[in-house]
Amino acid sequence: MISSHIAHAVRAIPPSGIRAFFDLVAACPDAISLGIGEPDSVTPWAFREAAIHAIERGRTAYTSTLGLLDLRRAIADYLRGRFGVRFDPRREILVTVGVSQALDLAVRAITNPGDEIIVVEPSFVAYSPVVTLAGGRPVPLATRAGENWRVDIRRLARLITPRTRAILLNSPCNPTGSASPREEMEAVAHLAQRNDLLLLSDEIYAELTFDGEHTCLPALGRAARARTLLLSGLSKGWAMTGWRVGYVCGHAALIAAMAKIHQHTMMCVATPSQWAAVEALRAGEGEVAIMREAYRERRDRMMGAFREMGLPCVPPRGAFYAFPSIASTGLTSQEFARRLLSEERVAVVPGDAFGAPGEGHVRCAFAASFDRVDEAMDRMARFVERLR
Ligand code: PMP
Repeated sequence: MISSHIAHAVRAIPPSGIRAFFDLVAACPDAISLGIGEPDSVTPWAFREAAIHAIERGRTAYTSTLGLLDLRRAIADYLRGRFGVRFDPRREILVTVGVSQALDLAVRAITNPGDEIIVVEPSFVAYSPVVTLAGGRPVPLATRAGENWRVDIRRLARLITPRTRAILLNSPCNPTGSASPREEMEAVAHLAQRNDLLLLSDEIYAELTFDGEHTCLPALGRAARARTLLLSGLSKGWAMTGWRVGYVCGHAALIAAMAKIHQHTMMCVATPSQWAAVEALRAGEGEVAIMREAYRERRDRMMGAFREMGLPCVPPRGAFYAFPSIASTGLTSQEFARRLLSEERVAVVPGDAFGAPGEGHVRCAFAASFDRVDEAMDRMARFVERLR
């Protein structure tokens, strides 16, 4: 059997629940998709032009393993200006192929076989599989809509064992849209300190924070910074998903460990993409603000629609996802999503794709254009009405 040649860890992970659902969506070309976690806008012209100029100037060779020094400086300046946290561009920043690779490198660099990493769920679909592939064991910490998707510190503390290496956090969160308040981050950081754990903080949606300020975990203070790997990138806030630029910042020893893996497996991020990212970080603030306001309008429209439909939804404070409860319809999240697609041609993602605590919810991205969000909400309202 050829499949017996496939490694155990690979066999152990399920394919992405999102991808499986999107095979169905692909068969419905007239569907409105609220499924994909991707900005609807094309990358702003100035960022694209920076890549074009780099190509015209013949900047086509490998860069340093850590990434272009200009880009690492732009990341350091951005993080200092925006969140007041300092990283040394020469030793504490590594440019990665999106946050996806930053996550993979961070987990691989710290995980020995059988080590445990606590994953706050519902979560981005890749978290647990990445831990499993690294030989580790993902340990889920459930959050609940009834608690505004907050991290319960006592429940978190009970999950810590001698094998625990790190806690993986994501604020603002995909799929719930929750954003951890400062006190919650501080409590997690204290717990990590007491138990000598690392913190992996995925802040890819930091720029898409709608209510209040984003709390950047390593900006909380020396102690938090010393044990945090900050994972972030340009895919979402700057509408640059296809460019594949992310980064990880943290202690120089951890960055050096990740750089070893990166060197042997990836070499560096595509050079024109890195030049586009320099421009985006240096001069993209206005473009980002325009996109953030557009998402805010769509979020408000979607929240209004869920209220009218009678679907409870914790208001998303960040990212571009709403995660309403569909429990009152009597359907599972898979049934709801499949029937909504076949009966009304609207694609949303069943909540169980994000871990068991996501069951009873569906993820609706409000990254589509205002008109499409509007039309999708009208169709969904018709569907929910029929179910009642
Ligand atoms: N983290 C989270 C929370 C995400 O939602 C995503 C993309 N959906 C990623 C990481 C991966 O992002 P990138 O495109 O930068 O690899």
